Amino acid sequence: MVLERFAQAGGQWLVSVAVDLDHLPRLQALAKSRDNVYFSVGVHPNHEVDAEPTVDQLCELADHPKCVAIGETGLDFFRHRVSPEEQEARFRTHIQAAKALNKPVIVHNRDADKDVLRVMADEGISDCGGIMHCFSSDWPTAQAALDMNMSISFTGNVTFKRNEELRGVAAKVPEDMLLIETDSPYLTPEPFRGKRNEPSYVRNVAECIAKVRNVPPEYLASATSQNASRRFGLIRHGLIRGSGGLGCF
Ligand SMILES: [Zn+2]
Repeated sequence: MVLERFAQAGGQWLVSVAVDLDHLPRLQALAKSRDNVYFSVGVHPNHEVDAEPTVDQLCELADHPKCVAIGETGLDFFRHRVSPEEQEARFRTHIQAAKALNKPVIVHNRDADKDVLRVMADEGISDCGGIMHCFSSDWPTAQAALDMNMSISFTGNVTFKRNEELRGVAAKVPEDMLLIETDSPYLTPEPFRGKRNEPSYVRNVAECIAKVRNVPPEYLASATSQNASRRFGLIRHGLIRGSGGLGCF
């Protein structure tokens, strides 16, 4: 199964990221049954809902020792299932909940660089910080996010041939703010592109970024793993004692 293959590939722990509240019981059950699985609470910007989540509701659902983040949230102007105004209001709600809980925010940004940066600044996201998940924007956007206490996380698309510029960004992010992730089942890295993505392939993302940063893959994996444990508060909360290998989400 997926988690066994992930462990065989050197993966140590992972965060299963929520995209809606309907599947939350499944994420909680998985996190409960596996020591090395954590989860987040949030509603994806483009997920249609009957009722918008409130700050109180998110706080209540996230009040669990293995809930390590709020999200994913953000803005997605690539698809238009939810209007930009509703997305922005929902994004603000998530940041407010994260600040109340002092948990990091997992931010999804698609074709919305300027608005994502504006809302994050407006809501003071730097108080709780977070992760720019599946980072696919330019260096000025990365810099602005870094200035707001946001880690920059790369996934399989950094390995795609045409994404030379993105590899340039991955080469420049300060080491302590760099993360890697799977975004499975999407964005499968080379050389598996075309297949269904899964967490074990995060190794290929690590190898690609190690190459552009001129460091050994093991070193990169260990650094991003420590960054992820720190960002998700795993060490702070005594959930793990620090890690080597590949930490991902
Ligand atoms: Zn996303």
